[in-house]
Amino acid sequence: MKQPVIVCLDLEGVLVPEIWISLAEATQIDDFRLTTRDISDYDVLMRKRLQILDVHSLRLQDIHAAVNTLNPLEGANEFLNSLRETYQVVILSDTFYEVIKPLMNKLNYPTLFSHSLEIDPDGRIHQYHLRQHDQKRKAVMAFKGLNFYVLAAGDSYNDTTMLQSADKGIFFRPPESIIQEFPNFPVTQTYAELRAQLDKAASLQCPLPSR
Ligand SMILES: [Mg+2]
Repeated sequence: MKQPVIVCLDLEGVLVPEIWISLAEATQIDDFRLTTRDISDYDVLMRKRLQILDVHSLRLQDIHAAVNTLNPLEGANEFLNSLRETYQVVILSDTFYEVIKPLMNKLNYPTLFSHSLEIDPDGRIHQYHLRQHDQKRKAVMAFKGLNFYVLAAGDSYNDTTMLQSADKGIFFRPPESIIQEFPNFPVTQTYAELRAQLDKAASLQCPLPSR
């Protein structure tokens, strides 16, 4: 039998813009431009971001004001809606539920596995909590354990363990440095290319012996 397919998608850079870069533009604070593309250790990156928020006295409402101005990437909703007609789809993101909420509304609330923030009543963010370390890879391994055939697509360092552990991993608009470091994953630049790679991987699935 063929296993049902589940597609794990990264969020920022794949379906929506990079939130922290948008925050840099909204606040004119360039330090927010650092992403997982620049610092591969997410803990180091998040500690730095919280420090910058604190120095500039920025609160959740300031972040929401920036996120509210964002829209899904051009064609993202059509791609996602069409994908969900054919496959199960789960978004695996290292963002935070509290930060991304305004944008999930614009994506029609797909299933999202991400992290949480600790926020004071006045909106000051004083701590972040990773639901678990290496959550993208662990989700892929769990889906495999549930007998799904797992396809995954992402654009950054924090996606590479997810792509490696999936039955098929695909890059979407990755920076050149990551392509060179991980040459084994096909590189796609448009939603049509990504969909074609996903469909190809799903169709090449080797049937398992029936049980
Ligand atoms: Mg990303």
